[in-house]
Amino acid sequence: MHAGKFGTAINCMDGRVQLPVINWMKDKYGLDYVDMITEPGPDGTLPNGRPGQVESIKSRVMISVNAHGSQTILVAAHHDCAGNPVSKEEHIRMIGDFLKEIRSWGLPVKDIIGVWINGDWAVEPIDQA
Ligand SMILES: [Zn+2]
Repeated sequence: MHAGKFGTAINCMDGRVQLPVINWMKDKYGLDYVDMITEPGPDGTLPNGRPGQVESIKSRVMISVNAHGSQTILVAAHHDCAGNPVSKEEHIRMIGDFLKEIRSWGLPVKDIIGVWINGDWAVEPIDQA
C-alpha cells in the first residue's frame, strides 16, 4: 500500500498552472500528492487531438487510479492557453465534454471535476450541469 492520499490532474503542460492545480487539489480534497498528466491544452484533445492521444491520457489516469488509489480526477483549462487557444466559453464547453468522456470510462473514483484557471492563476470550479 502507498502511504498518502493521491489525486489525479489532467492539466496543461503550461508551467504557470502546475502549482495552482496541485495546491488547490491538496487543500480542497485533503490530498498528499497529485499525479500530473499533462498535454498542451488537454481539454482540446477530445475534438482535436492526435490519434491515440485521449487513450494515452486514459492509460495514465488508470495508473494513478489503480496503482495509487486516486479517488479524485480533475480536468483543467486555463486563461491564455497556447495549446488550445480558444475562448473561455469554448474551454468550458470542452471541459464538459471531457468530463462526460471520463465518466464513460467507469472508474471507481469519488470525484470527477472540471476547473477553470483564470488570469490571476486562481482555480475556479466549473459548475456541472
Ligand atoms: Zn495551456
